[in-house]
Amino acid sequence: MECLFCRIVSGAIPATKLFEDDHAIAFRDIRPQAPVHILVVPKRHFASLADPNLSGECEVLLGHLLATVNQIAYAEKLAHGYRTVINTGPDGGQTVDHLHLHLLGGRAMKWPPG
Ligand code: 5GP
Ligand code: ZN
Repeated sequence: MECLFCRIVSGAIPATKLFEDDHAIAFRDIRPQAPVHILVVPKRHFASLADPNLSGECEVLLGHLLATVNQIAYAEKLAHGYRTVINTGPDGGQTVDHLHLHLLGGRAMKWPPG
């Protein structure tokens, strides 16, 4: 199994896991860009949000991932707000080719992003 996040999902590579259910896991980013920086990752491998396998029935999964972000933000006491980011493809700045949602918080974010 080559994919880094598939290996984190399977437990082959350790991560600071905060949440897990049948469909998703969440763990702390190894190079945090904010006081809170968490990745929410589907257990099933999709290369990115642009993966053609992410169609039809997977819309429920996408909604679940977003709901999970908000649930974790609540647990992390980010009542002042937070940012959710999905980098997609080279121009999107994606570096790990397994769909993941960034949850960033604990400081005021700037706009536009770089
Ligand atoms: P991307 O650039 O693809 O949107 O985000 C990938 C994220 O994964 C980066 O923020 C990076 O710091 C994080 N990351 C890369 N390798 C590891 C790892 O081995 N463990 C954890 N927890 N995060 C990682
Ligand atoms: Zn994967």
